[in-house]
Amino acid sequence: MSAETTSGLATRFAPSPNGHLHPGHAFSALTAWDWAQANNARFILRIEDTDRTRARAEFEQSQLDDLAWLGLTWEQPVRRQSEHMADYQRGLDRLTELGVIYPCFCTRKDIADAPIAPHGPDGMIYPGTCRHLSLDVRDTKKAEGIPFALRLDTARAQDIAERLTGNRLTFMEHGTGPNGETGRLPADTSAIGDAVIARKDGVIAYHLAVVMDDADQGITHVIRGQDLFFATPFHRLLQVLLDLPEPAYIHHRLILDETGERMAKRRGSKTLGDLRADGMTVEDIRAMVGID
Ligand code: GLU
Repeated sequence: MSAETTSGLATRFAPSPNGHLHPGHAFSALTAWDWAQANNARFILRIEDTDRTRARAEFEQSQLDDLAWLGLTWEQPVRRQSEHMADYQRGLDRLTELGVIYPCFCTRKDIADAPIAPHGPDGMIYPGTCRHLSLDVRDTKKAEGIPFALRLDTARAQDIAERLTGNRLTFMEHGTGPNGETGRLPADTSAIGDAVIARKDGVIAYHLAVVMDDADQGITHVIRGQDLFFATPFHRLLQVLLDLPEPAYIHHRLILDETGERMAKRRGSKTLGDLRADGMTVEDIRAMVGID
């Protein structure tokens, strides 16, 4: 499809090349693709490979092959996040200037052992142990060579964002959240808390990369699973802080296996490749995930 569409709309599918695609990914990709066709919108494929410890070239190739088999076409060249680290660093620098980034020296065990470590949809919510360390303590720990991640002071950042705009932080949901939430929604960042912006190895984390890429690629509608609904207020917050345009969100239902769990290789769910090898057609896959 050409980059020029009359609608000015654009959506994307953004897999992480950490494994083979399964029917849940097919549902997500087809939902975005069908929406793009119905709305005369651009369809963009983006490879989210910031996690170099898990990303593998053969998974990327297998994902591209599966998506082509499903009948999708996408704009070239395909953006790989690993090729844009300098861009994300500029975003991090801006957040640092705003005074909303702090170093976190905690290990996983420190976080698990913290007296108050509430759980969110994505596991433990960071209890804020390093949020108020003095500059002296931070400098000493850095001088001792203790590795540190960089986190967003989310409550402070939200306060700044709301003062900058003069409005409460909200986002636009054109799909539904896990509890049927839709329309203009208040952005509740408490379910994600002080998420990591740069990991201890210096790699910029998913949350910053995703909002910068969506803006850079002109994405007007972010279509993705309800598993990321909880992260959307945080993404909206980063968009305001970085002065990026606001996309609308379309969160879709998740495809569950017979036991009611999300399909995943570790639970033995069949991959798209397995299903193809079993002789399933694209129509069979569409019917399997409940798309007409
Ligand atoms: N790369 C993410 C994943 O594979 C998706 C991110 C998004 O759609 O915003 O789960």
